[in-house]
Amino acid sequence: LSERLEGALKVIKGKHKITEINVAEAVKDVRKALVEADVNYKIAKEITERIKEKALGQKILIAVEPYQLMIKIVEDELAQLMGGQKADLMLTGSPAVVLMAGLQGSGKTTFSAKLANQIKRQGRQVLLVACDVYRPAAIEQLKTLALQIGVDVYSEPENNNPVAIAQNAIQYAKANHKNVVIVDTAGRLAVDEEMMNEIEKIKKAINPCEILFVVDSMTGQDAVNTAKAFNERLDFTGVVLTKLDGDTRGGAALSIRAVVEKPIKFIGTSEKIDGIDVFHPDRMARRILNMGDVVGLVEKAQQAFDEKEAERLNKKLRQNQFDFNDFLSQIQQIKKMGNIKDLMSMVPGMSKMMKDVDIPEDAFKSTEAIIFSMTPKERENPQLLISGNGSGSRRKRIALGSGTSIQEVNALVKQFEEMRKVIKKINAMQNTGKKLGKIF
Ligand code: GDP
Ligand code: MG
Repeated sequence: LSERLEGALKVIKGKHKITEINVAEAVKDVRKALVEADVNYKIAKEITERIKEKALGQKILIAVEPYQLMIKIVEDELAQLMGGQKADLMLTGSPAVVLMAGLQGSGKTTFSAKLANQIKRQGRQVLLVACDVYRPAAIEQLKTLALQIGVDVYSEPENNNPVAIAQNAIQYAKANHKNVVIVDTAGRLAVDEEMMNEIEKIKKAINPCEILFVVDSMTGQDAVNTAKAFNERLDFTGVVLTKLDGDTRGGAALSIRAVVEKPIKFIGTSEKIDGIDVFHPDRMARRILNMGDVVGLVEKAQQAFDEKEAERLNKKLRQNQFDFNDFLSQIQQIKKMGNIKDLMSMVPGMSKMMKDVDIPEDAFKSTEAIIFSMTPKERENPQLLISGNGSGSRRKRIALGSGTSIQEVNALVKQFEEMRKVIKKINAMQNTGKKLGKIF
């Protein structure tokens, strides 16, 4: 989708003015791209009409390229289509009950554990309930996940009545001071009457404050149809879009909200426990437009960063005092953040470049080795390695000590120098940006 949209918007790129003709052209292509990404035709038409109106209604600001303006308009409209603002989980009642619904394989069990983990981290007592009584492995799966996060599971292996299990679980939760109960249920491969009846009965019996419809974002237009069917029977309170990793198709996210008029509350971004994110329509819109989720990147970084460390680094960066120790600590922080490729793909313009790139796990190994072989003085004072006065023999010593070559050391020193230049530039740019911000 992103590529298509980008292509569509290229019509505008380089133009100095937004005219009726080039807007009409761009908008037509945007519509085509949306439809191809499984966005319902009527919705795609509506949104592109609005984009057109907005684009033509804009006075061109000095210093803003029409292309950028157009992207902003499309982005805003996409975000609006997906609800405009993030929608929070509403946990009310004691215990607060969250019911999961969705087809088999959509990611209910995985998401139940992810959510439980998140809520637990907020300091609340969570209970997971295994109501999938049809597959013997289902209880085991939930238990295995729960063990990882240290959350209790309520299950009754001998009982094949999910309604009774859910009710008993609530009693158990009350008796055991649980604040939040997450009920994982069974799904079928397709919407069927039996499954709908069952989940409806569970809903009636336990009166959940949240009913989350979990759906695999890779299923495209089917996801929308399934959402419709579930919503008609359950009147759910929110949507969880899973498997939004790897795949670029955002069609489901774009259509579901508009079709069922329920907010998307979370996204699943990997099969791992921490692969859960609150759904931000504006970020999703930006991501769809392939402009990178910079805010998301920063947030992820912040989670992994020791806050003090981040603050210290920031200060040094602002003062152009970045040294090898900081470089090393940054590498270590990046490693903590997990999959580098995922992170890089959040940087604007990177995702396309990263598609075919394979970053090995130990990408930083030799860099680290080189820095470890520097003396504390050299780490603090990169100038010692950069030029003149015996810097050559220092680099030779470091190469020997780190088991690398002199070329590698030279390359790193050079890279570091470049980075310092870039940081300097960014600092200067940010200052200009602040001034500009006051104008707009
Ligand atoms: P359920 O049948 O609805 O309970 O679905 P499961 O939770 O068992 O998930 C089905 C499969 O999808 C499992 O292999 C999960 O590991 C995987 N899965 C779930 N959520 C995600 C996600 O956000 N990203 C990825 N990549 N895989 C996921
Ligand atoms: Mg399951």
